[in-house]
Amino acid sequence: MFLVLLGAPGAGKGTQAAMISRKLGLAHIASGDLFRQAVEKGTKLGQSVKAYMDKGALVPDEVTIQLISERLNEPDCKTGCVFDGFPRTIEQAKALDKMLTSRKEAIDKAVYIEVPEEELLKRLSGRWICRQCQVPYHELTSPPKVPRKCDRCGGELYQRSDDAVETVKERLKVYFAQTAPVLDYYKTMDKLIAVNGKLGIEDVAEAIIDVLKPKSVRAG
Ligand code: AMP
Repeated sequence: MFLVLLGAPGAGKGTQAAMISRKLGLAHIASGDLFRQAVEKGTKLGQSVKAYMDKGALVPDEVTIQLISERLNEPDCKTGCVFDGFPRTIEQAKALDKMLTSRKEAIDKAVYIEVPEEELLKRLSGRWICRQCQVPYHELTSPPKVPRKCDRCGGELYQRSDDAVETVKERLKVYFAQTAPVLDYYKTMDKLIAVNGKLGIEDVAEAIIDVLKPKSVRAG
């Protein structure tokens, strides 16, 4: 199964993609995490994308598509994966379709995690992320048991530099201008399903698992 998780920055794509991929036994491909790892390691790719990320702008399609194409060719993606943060432009969505078509696969569903704009700003400021396992926390709504330490793996928590208020505003602007049209792309293909992202983390995950079931076995 190949799934795309869509939603604005702060909608909970990373959290849900990690949970869904674990529950369904699928690989998790997070373009933002791959870029951040490259920046931290100081690779050539990292050096070329850092300025875009610092500004809250999108990395050029060509670079992003190449990165995802390489990741998708790794053995853990053979039977499927959950895409998180990709595609973010129509160009990327089309390129992803091509990559999958060439291996006789296709996106099964695009899940849109819907969260009102005012809630997104609140969520992004105050977010802390585990350096080791990428689990996110929030200082008000879901703080770790021990400050700056991950409950799950004990890793160190850090705040993303692009979660600063001005950069968050830019990321949201970029999202509405460039990524929101991707929703229509999947809607036209009859693959888009929306879930209420304002629910608790477990409830959103359950709603996603539920909408992925065939209509005949869905709850409610
Ligand atoms: P994220 O962790 O998904 O919020 O991504 C962090 C940053 O990485 C974004 O603000 C972009 O600069 C870059 N990025 C991640 N995914 C993509 C993508 N699919 N296309 C272009 N840039 C991306």
